[in-house]
Amino acid sequence: MDRSYDAAVIGLGAMGSAAAYHLAARGQRVLGLERFGPAHDRGSSHGGSRIIRQAYFEHPDYVPLLLRAYELWEALEHDSGADLLTCTGALMIGRPESRTVAGSRASARRWGLPHEMLDAAEIRRRYPTLAPRPDEVALYEARGGFVRPEAAVAAHIGLAERAGADLRFGEPAETWTALPGGDGVRITTADGAYTAGRLVVCPGAWAPRLLADLGVAFTVERQVQYWFAPRGGTAPFAPERHPVYVWEDPPGVQIYGFPAYEGPEGGVKTAFFRRGRPCTPETLDRAIHPEEIAAITAHLEQRVPDLPGRFLRGAACMYTTTADEHFVVAVHPEHPQVTVACGFSGHGFKFTPVIGEIAADLAMTGTTAHPIGLFDPRPRRAAAERPAARQEVPR
Ligand SMILES: Cc1cc2nc3c(=O)[nH]c(=O)nc-3n(C[C@H](O)[C@H](O)[C@H](O)COP(=O)(O)OP(=O)(O)OC[C@H]3O[C@@H](n4cnc5c(N)ncnc54)[C@H](O)[C@@H]3O)c2cc1C
Repeated sequence: MDRSYDAAVIGLGAMGSAAAYHLAARGQRVLGLERFGPAHDRGSSHGGSRIIRQAYFEHPDYVPLLLRAYELWEALEHDSGADLLTCTGALMIGRPESRTVAGSRASARRWGLPHEMLDAAEIRRRYPTLAPRPDEVALYEARGGFVRPEAAVAAHIGLAERAGADLRFGEPAETWTALPGGDGVRITTADGAYTAGRLVVCPGAWAPRLLADLGVAFTVERQVQYWFAPRGGTAPFAPERHPVYVWEDPPGVQIYGFPAYEGPEGGVKTAFFRRGRPCTPETLDRAIHPEEIAAITAHLEQRVPDLPGRFLRGAACMYTTTADEHFVVAVHPEHPQVTVACGFSGHGFKFTPVIGEIAADLAMTGTTAHPIGLFDPRPRRAAAERPAARQEVPR
């Protein structure tokens, strides 16, 4: 069996499946290695929905990438035939000076994004499920909505395979070694060794191990998604009339939520944006605890009072967060044949297809026309650690 490829991708979750697709679509002979099965629920890309929006409080530099991501989401829907993106409108709610509102507004103004500012009375009038305080406002953008993570990963995997990629599931990479002189990589698995001219590493919550030599500090955090049956039924939360939302309270606590996209029986999903507990993929506690349900219920009682009628279910998931909460997407500083895409800090999914495009650019040419200066690992590296050329990946 020939075990040499133009490009290899480690990790076929959100970003790796997109990278594999974009590389294969450009005619590369692609190897993809994934620890688990296709579109699994063991990493960061499960739970049925992820918010997508363009007015971006995290930093205005993300907006050009979001505009391209929307184009690519539509192309992915067209090419795969899958239903992936639903624009329900999005509300960024809080006090006018909150990061969520002020940051979204600044980025919308800077990039000329269509949006409206709503006062508390107008929020209540349009969306009677929501109970803002008198001093709260919202930025509304009609292009906001949600994408479907499992279906999106499956779509990228399907298209990558259709373009000829050799994707291997249940086969974790054990080591990767950058060969001297930038001359390709060697990857080992329990099945043997592979070589490739280029490597793209998209390890999600396994980044602290697989990319230890980057010197960037990653914190893996447990995050819980909750589904409730609203008091009075799901009709007021139907996607035709209810937006997605991110809602910041004065101390900086954010919750977010979705319409009832799973129909009348599926419940309505909500979560705290951050406030996660540190974990590793091995120590992730998948049980949902009564005190956690009580905490989000108490918060919702004040904000979305009809939502926490009956708790239906929860799902634990992992963020891989950098200190500044910006992504790491770059050519590896020590190994020009290696591209890294990680540290998506709880807000990466909406970018998935454009990260795939960028990773393919970087792997094939060492550069990209997309603005990714914010994602450079070099200024964020911890005090000089001598990088190792060989990465051991404990299983
Ligand atoms: C609860 C929750 C809510 C979120 N909400 C939003 C949202 O509303 N909007 C938004 O934009 N983003 C959101 N995010 C963030 C977003 O989902 C993540 O940024 C994104 O899914 C990360 O993708 P990834 O490819 O880095 O990780 P993953 O999709 O987890 O992929 C990493 C893959 O690497 C594989 N892997 C690891 N090590 C190896 C190895 N040695 N060999 C082979 N394979 C390996 C893993 O099995 C996994 O499949 C949310 C995240 C969570 C957890």
